[in-house]
Amino acid sequence: MNRDSQQEGIGQIAWRSDGGVYEIRHEEDMNVSVKKLREIKNLLKLEELVRRNEEGNYRPLRGEKNLVQGWFYSAKSALELREVLEVIYPGAMGNWSAQQKGELRVLGWKEAAKKQTGRVQALIEGGGKAVEVAKKELCITRCGKTPLWAEKSVVAKVGKVPFLCVEPCPLFWEKAKNLLNS
Ligand code: SF4
Repeated sequence: MNRDSQQEGIGQIAWRSDGGVYEIRHEEDMNVSVKKLREIKNLLKLEELVRRNEEGNYRPLRGEKNLVQGWFYSAKSALELREVLEVIYPGAMGNWSAQQKGELRVLGWKEAAKKQTGRVQALIEGGGKAVEVAKKELCITRCGKTPLWAEKSVVAKVGKVPFLCVEPCPLFWEKAKNLLNS
């Protein structure tokens, strides 16, 4: 792989292309010798890999900044690159594409709360800072996505595809509910 080819990425993933082949790695591994990395040869193996963190624990939050290192995947086409990204960060490229077309729908937390049970809605309405604390401890600290629903704006970075979150995820609600109940 030509190290001078342009690097792109999203979240903790980066890739370089050379002759129509995209070599995809953890961004922290971009300058590691390929001999020190394990090749992942199909999407099923990739799915198994990204489901767990370095300690082997399940990663319920796909956008969390704890993606395992030490591997690479060679995608033979732009289509395969897209498939790889869909396995690692489901929906992320679709969100970016929709945003570019002005078609991305963002659901604010108040609107999203209406999908929760009446009890949770009541708790949230009277719940003081639970939503703010959940945002800070989960979305800002652990997750690599930009929560557009929390009125965060995207900071453009050269060679980086924005990693967008359009509505509070189930883990966010779990966290907020736990804070409300504590
Ligand atoms: S709601 Fe927060 S934690 Fe969940 S995916 Fe979005 S940014 Fe990440």
